[in-house]
Amino acid sequence: MPTSSKKAIAPKKTISKKTTAKKAVVKRAAKKAPVTTKHVHEHTATVLTRALHEKKVLSDRRQPLGHLLLEQKLRDAGFKGVVTTDKKILDKYSTDESIFCIRPQVVIQPKHQRDVEVAVQLIATETKRFASLSLTPRAAGTGLGGGSLTDSVVIDVSRFMHDIGGVKKQNGVATFTCEPGAMWRDVERMLKHHDLYLPPYPASKDICSIGGAVANNSAGPDSLRYGHCADWVASLDVVLQDGKTYTIAPLSYKELKVLLKKDNAHATMAREVFSMLETNEKVIANAKPKTTKNSAGYAVWDVLSTSLANFKKGHGTFDLTRIISGSQGTIGVIVSVTMRAEPIAHDTDLIVVPVFDLLDAGAVIEKALEFNPINIELFDGLTFDLALKNPQFFKDRLGMLTYYKVMLSMYTTYHVRYARRTPEFTLLITLNRDDAKLETDRAVTKLRSHHGKYARKVASPIEREMFWQIRRASYTLSKFQDPEKRPAAFLEDMVVPTKNLSKFFAAIKKLLNKYNVIAAVHGHGGNGHLHFYPLLDFTNKTTPALVMKMTEDFFNAAIELDGNLCGEHNDGIIRTPHLDKMFTKTILDLFKRLEHACDPDDIFNPGKKVNPRFDVKASIRHTN
Ligand SMILES: Cc1cc2nc3c(=O)[nH]c(=O)nc-3n(C[C@H](O)[C@H](O)[C@H](O)COP(=O)(O)OP(=O)(O)OC[C@H]3O[C@@H](n4cnc5c(N)ncnc54)[C@H](O)[C@@H]3O)c2cc1C
Repeated sequence: MPTSSKKAIAPKKTISKKTTAKKAVVKRAAKKAPVTTKHVHEHTATVLTRALHEKKVLSDRRQPLGHLLLEQKLRDAGFKGVVTTDKKILDKYSTDESIFCIRPQVVIQPKHQRDVEVAVQLIATETKRFASLSLTPRAAGTGLGGGSLTDSVVIDVSRFMHDIGGVKKQNGVATFTCEPGAMWRDVERMLKHHDLYLPPYPASKDICSIGGAVANNSAGPDSLRYGHCADWVASLDVVLQDGKTYTIAPLSYKELKVLLKKDNAHATMAREVFSMLETNEKVIANAKPKTTKNSAGYAVWDVLSTSLANFKKGHGTFDLTRIISGSQGTIGVIVSVTMRAEPIAHDTDLIVVPVFDLLDAGAVIEKALEFNPINIELFDGLTFDLALKNPQFFKDRLGMLTYYKVMLSMYTTYHVRYARRTPEFTLLITLNRDDAKLETDRAVTKLRSHHGKYARKVASPIEREMFWQIRRASYTLSKFQDPEKRPAAFLEDMVVPTKNLSKFFAAIKKLLNKYNVIAAVHGHGGNGHLHFYPLLDFTNKTTPALVMKMTEDFFNAAIELDGNLCGEHNDGIIRTPHLDKMFTKTILDLFKRLEHACDPDDIFNPGKKVNPRFDVKASIRHTN
């Protein structure tokens, strides 16, 4: 059951950018004062009364007025897609894969770009009368931080906007264009016909969309070498604050100067960012998190590809897609994505290193990084145990014959090769024979003499498949520990420098013991990036308080080890209030200034990235 709206949302307490008039409306809603005709035009009141009865939402007092009028207004403005307040649908959109439950008041599903423009224009106008109206984009809804949840209007781009264009090749670079709701798996299939793939693929590639992945600046195993989604974006079509679509792509200094003279939303954003860089270049450069992965904050430090002085001399580019990728829908709604793709590497070798002493893991990873691997992934002993105890889990994923072969390989590994000892960690290291710094057999020898005593090259395709099956299933497997509980995503995205990884493992273990909770650990070892989901019972009333305490302790442990809180899952509801642990006040103020320039009426996904407005504890779900 979703949390009741009263409990789930605390009215905007912190920084509100809205006008005094809007605040008065918020106050009325917060006090739950009945809305009277005094506040509205007479015609509006008639529509409202009819809508209240027709939609049977009298009990919903979260300033429903603007929301109830929305459907009619959208239709009048020419919106062709779906607009719904159906209870079951609102329930469905109240959750994503995070620990939160927040009920929207309206869900709209645009048919095309024009519908998105209509919706943005309308909300931008109406929010001046009804302050709580806002627009939160949503695609496949697999986000782990609550990024797509809202108490206002959800704009779901996944239902109709999922067209995929073909591959274009120019100067040896392959690109494709798709709508934001296109599923990653469908794009992957299309690219495979061209022997191409999208390197920052997340583990959720079978269930997430391209638009959501770009908006979260997602990443995955191969990001060790190839970076995040933002690194693969060529251009984005985005509906900005004025309800118009702009194609945003890297610009030369000459092109930027032309843009800066214009009077539109794209130019406003460019002016703000450029002026920030002109006055704070060093501060911004120094604020870039030192870890090898990050999706926290707005990546202003990546906008210029060279120094400001060099850029002004005509070198490099100014690229606002670097900010929009990872902005979680707080700056505009992405309506089209163009990305580069990479040839699939066929000549790869897998080295597996079972590590029986926790403290060896970091050292092995540091050594393996010297070989220029494509990825270094890991899963812990608990994950391996869960795979051994739940063979049926793999049955649905694999064909019958492969299933038996993979299971045989798994049990032989455990009983024979490991003599029934479960390694603390299993490390998977992929080398491309074409560009690895060391030939695979020599790399194995080096690892053996450097804390990786049991390192070996895995030649059998079935055994390779077995290790990757376990790694890819890590999150889902963790659900088998206790079906009555939920693997909770709130600590799952911390990154530390690899040299501190062993210390971080130890700190996590200690804290898990302190709170008496279990969590299987897996992640992107080469980046020092660990995912773990403590098993918690959300039907227990004490869980929200526990979540709050654990968050502080674990986040502080990462920061103490020069880490960051958010490698790839983005800030959402859970991490936005903690960004002051990572960034100085000056930088946080710059983020706010940037967001305000791009979204002066706070219509785009308020409460995420800047100006946290959700009461985290009260918004936590009460179901597992
Ligand atoms: C089992 C599992 C494994 C996962 N593994 C990974 C992983 O390896 N790496 C990783 O990075 N993430 C991972 N995730 C998290 C999540 O799947 C990814 O971040 C994914 O890319 C989100 O895509 P989505 O389509 O579900 O987006 P959603 O959750 O729908 O949206 C994500 C964010 O983008 C915004 N948004 C959506 N569409 C638009 C748009 N058109 N314009 C502007 N903003 C928009 C939303 O408001 C929201 O803030 C995992 C999740 C699960 C459940």
